[in-house]
Amino acid sequence: MNVTTQPHCRSCGAPLAVTFIDLGLSPPANCLTEPADAGRGESFYPLHAYVCEVCLLVQLDVFETPEQIFREYSYFSSYSTSWLQHAESYVQQMLTKRGVAPGQRVVELASNDGYLLQYFIRAGVEVLGIDPASNVAAVARERGVPTLDEFFGVDVAKRVAAEHGRANLIVANNVLAHVPDINDFVGGIAQLLDLTGFATIEFPHLLNLIEGVQFDTIYHEHFSYLSVLALVPLFARHGLAIFDVQEIPTHGGSLRIFVGHTGKRPIGPSVAALVEKERAHHLDRLETYPAFGEVVMRVKRDFLEFLIGARRDGKTVGGYGAAAKATTLLNYAGARTDFIRFVADKSPYKQGRLIAGVRVPIVTPERLRAERPDYVVIFPWNIAPEIRDELADVRAWGGRFVTAIPTLTVDP
Ligand SMILES: [Zn+2]
Repeated sequence: MNVTTQPHCRSCGAPLAVTFIDLGLSPPANCLTEPADAGRGESFYPLHAYVCEVCLLVQLDVFETPEQIFREYSYFSSYSTSWLQHAESYVQQMLTKRGVAPGQRVVELASNDGYLLQYFIRAGVEVLGIDPASNVAAVARERGVPTLDEFFGVDVAKRVAAEHGRANLIVANNVLAHVPDINDFVGGIAQLLDLTGFATIEFPHLLNLIEGVQFDTIYHEHFSYLSVLALVPLFARHGLAIFDVQEIPTHGGSLRIFVGHTGKRPIGPSVAALVEKERAHHLDRLETYPAFGEVVMRVKRDFLEFLIGARRDGKTVGGYGAAAKATTLLNYAGARTDFIRFVADKSPYKQGRLIAGVRVPIVTPERLRAERPDYVVIFPWNIAPEIRDELADVRAWGGRFVTAIPTLTVDP
């Protein structure tokens, strides 16, 4: 891949020249380092987000091929209790309010370990999962969720439509932002979707990223940062239209958009209302975007000041949640084991490995409890309440929880 040429918008093709935020060099966030590889070097790639001057899509240039990043993916959806609840209530809503019925076909893109489709199976709905990560697709099949380990796009969509028939519902949660060829992915949805069917697509809303200073959701696997303003022309290019939008609380504030074939469904008032909300926050103006960088630098300085102060006072600092957010924040701040001794995580897949780049060890929650650090930095701030409940005993030993985003907060 030639990375010396000027990048171009992955949606409309215009040259990219306006910086949204430049976080410097960072390793791929979901590639954890094996302790046995500690003597080897690691790959670092620019984490530089642009905004397209023509269609306003915020995006990273592609630095790593998706095969390298996604073939072994370390996030298993079923390890998050709140995410499972979100999936179950979504399925209930589709069955009771949106007309999805037993005998119909639901296809989920990036179906992970079958966390969501399992609820459709219980309701008698025919399902197929598609996920490129072979290891999570294998876990899904073991629990009885039929799953193809493929990258979804126009070719796969045509093959699945020919072999299984078109889908009444296509579910795509937290994947649209992660596909490098966004036109091939959306084109695939158009191919696979039944003429009267609809797709629901969830993604973190760019407006919340900006308002909540959620720069740690920027990592290499996350290619696009989505607004409705930028998505309307993308879907229209493929004969699809957004006909409804819901704001949902997941991942720090997400959108669930409902998409159908153009002209097949009336466009609800929620779509214009959401576009109006984005305009009210000036997302329709190019100059809004570069101002984000100044706010991010303030967060970095505050986080480092906390870490330096804690170490000067002889306090110990541990972390919780070895998510991609931890990799982005720790590498951007340059905080290694000199500041954070370890990050605990309940996924056995991550335990014993190291956060890439800064090489902070990932340990079990039991180890966190044994070491009793004075401060516990919660990296996945989006599920911080759940983590505070799970780790209620931290307070019993006098430990205090810390979050760095949107502003540094140390629990009393
Ligand atoms: Zn564009």
